[in-house]
Amino acid sequence: MPPFADKVKRLDRSRLLLRRRYGEPLRLIVTHPVEHVLRAILAEEASAAEVDQAIERFRRYFADMNDLRVSHPHEIREALGADFPRATYKARIIPRLLDQAFKQHNSMVWDFLEPMGKMEVRAYFERLEDVRPFIAATLARDCAGAHAFPVDNDVARVFGRLGILDPAAETETEMQAFLERAVKASRAYEAHWLIKRLAEDLCLPDKPRCERCPLNAFCPSVVLAAKKKAASRGKAGAKKQPKSKAAAKPKRKKSGGAAQKKRR
Ligand code: SF4
Repeated sequence: MPPFADKVKRLDRSRLLLRRRYGEPLRLIVTHPVEHVLRAILAEEASAAEVDQAIERFRRYFADMNDLRVSHPHEIREALGADFPRATYKARIIPRLLDQAFKQHNSMVWDFLEPMGKMEVRAYFERLEDVRPFIAATLARDCAGAHAFPVDNDVARVFGRLGILDPAAETETEMQAFLERAVKASRAYEAHWLIKRLAEDLCLPDKPRCERCPLNAFCPSVVLAAKKKAASRGKAGAKKQPKSKAAAKPKRKKSGGAAQKKRR
């Protein structure tokens, strides 16, 4: 893994290149903290369009947020649709989180967040069961204006491929702490939004479209068609090679001088 200063440079270079591709971040107007929660959970490995459609379906299926809270996971899964990314997991987590907050504050308005400071909001959600650190970070950022860099599977995957994070060795909390140190507060929202755009557009879980990626010049995980062809040509060539060096060596004729010496 490259040292910290190198990673910071790569992060900034990525942000600038991605801004050229995707433009300025869109800031959704979300007034209810519960909608922030729902969007944060739903957005993992899903596109922005899929999230918007899911929120619309929730509005049609459930009378209000309290109805969503008391619904069974299979009902929420049905509302999401069978093809929604990680629908089963998300359908389990959503009512679990809403119910814990409700039982503590007897409210679905979540005005209990208002007097809390930035760190308090984050700590509150981190203490809830089954709530991953990236959800707590999203809420601290979106509801309390905290400096936070939420790391869900998408962010971990892209930064892992770029050699900036090591998701196999680092926890979600450790990755977030690193990014919050490496990216300035004034740039964190933009950098996060751009990485999520790249994750849903090109750096897909199974088949990244590296040919079209603006970061492919310095990404250590890049898979380009030209490289693939060269690799497959290399393999085909290797098959044709003789098995041992000895077998590959051409037989050398004895030189005339040496042959004469032997005869003498
Ligand atoms: S070059 Fe490929 S693997 Fe690297 S960030 Fe871009 S899409 Fe992902």
